[in-house]
Amino acid sequence: MNESENGTLVPLGRDYPELRDGVKRICQDFPLEYWARLDRERAYPTEFVKALTEAGYLAALIPEEYGGAGLPLRAAAVILEEINRNGGNATQAHAQMYVMGTVLRHGSEEQKRRILPRVASGELRLQAFGVTEPTSGSDTTRIRTTAVRQGDEYVINGQKVWTSRALHSDLMLLLARTTPLDQVQKRTHGLSVFIVDLKENLGKTVEIRPIDAMINHNTTEVFFENLRVPVENRIGEEGQGFKYILSGMNAERILVATELVGDTHWFIETATRYANERVVFGRPIGQNQGIQFPIARCYAELESADILARRAAALFQDGKDCGTAANVAKLIASEASWHAAEACMQTFGGFGYAAEYHVERRWREARLAQIAPVSTNMVLSYIAQHVLGLPRSY
Ligand SMILES: Cc1cc2nc3c(=O)[nH]c(=O)nc-3n(C[C@H](O)[C@H](O)[C@H](O)COP(=O)(O)OP(=O)(O)OC[C@H]3O[C@@H](n4cnc5c(N)ncnc54)[C@H](O)[C@@H]3O)c2cc1C
Repeated sequence: MNESENGTLVPLGRDYPELRDGVKRICQDFPLEYWARLDRERAYPTEFVKALTEAGYLAALIPEEYGGAGLPLRAAAVILEEINRNGGNATQAHAQMYVMGTVLRHGSEEQKRRILPRVASGELRLQAFGVTEPTSGSDTTRIRTTAVRQGDEYVINGQKVWTSRALHSDLMLLLARTTPLDQVQKRTHGLSVFIVDLKENLGKTVEIRPIDAMINHNTTEVFFENLRVPVENRIGEEGQGFKYILSGMNAERILVATELVGDTHWFIETATRYANERVVFGRPIGQNQGIQFPIARCYAELESADILARRAAALFQDGKDCGTAANVAKLIASEASWHAAEACMQTFGGFGYAAEYHVERRWREARLAQIAPVSTNMVLSYIAQHVLGLPRSY
């Protein structure tokens, strides 16, 4: 058992302490008030992302030969965990860390050399990922955005929704249908992945409209009208895009799960501090079991989520099948962070509603994980079908 700075017992060990300390130092320059202001102004944390980029954290997963740090997935996860644990919002930065994974795993050597070093240095922001569409929702194989080959180019038409950070990204990874659904043997076939140059095409063949959302997530709708993308920007083989997108999802779920572990820490630490300080009926509210038990239960859930996220990262690193572990970790972590958000809100009572305590903002933010990047029902369907052998339900 280790003891953390605030006296909490941390039985799992503080791995990558130098990374944790470095991220914490950066977060100290971006206090809770910084995030509250961005929330009010619906602004992007440009300065925070710049600081993370300059320190090399967002290039953690890019191999050294392409200018990154070449760290294991667990190290990247720890970076995100620390951001959220220290009051930041890693969702605004995490995509720059892992969207490039599709290029790394399935791109050509030419694409890797062209893109990855510039993503590592921060010169290129590749942090928009266009999969979801308004009509198809979770049923990705029914997307309607099409890419039709004409000579050395593809002509792309369609629409994406909830494309986060598109206005703060130079490049976007886009999934589009290259063979109509009624002409493929399997509905997962005939989809392809493209690197789209947003900067070059914005206002011409690409239109981006911000979505007014419950949280400050810089998320958008993206419209494509006869966008021309050179063939050399297609990743891997035509028609195999669904497979390429899926291959990145385990890593994403493990990183998001760990990020949520960071959130859970923040809620528990914030609630505990307040429960010790706030005196009502002549005693700290934390003396009441009605206040301390929900927080204690969250601590138990935190440990479960942390262990599961570490297990999934270890399987991923060993190249083992980690689909179930990644899904389970994401599911449990999303519930742990939401329960902790609820417990924190309840502990603060009326003051939980006051923006100056930051609980209401982080409570709003915590709800997202049960919907995106994958909704809880989709994870449960995965477990039911792939682990339990129950019939596919959709
Ligand atoms: C803030 C935010 C940021 C996002 N960022 C991105 C992004 O950057 N890029 C991107 O591509 N997408 C992004 N998304 C989209 C996100 O991945 C989807 O919202 C999510 O996958 C759910 O899809 P949907 O909203 O279309 O819900 P739907 O598919 O319409 O589903 C609605 C509800 O029905 C349930 N449901 C649907 N079908 C079934 C079934 N067969 N069995 C059981 N339950 C079912 C779902 O679980 C969900 O609860 C973002 C979303 C949000 C809110």
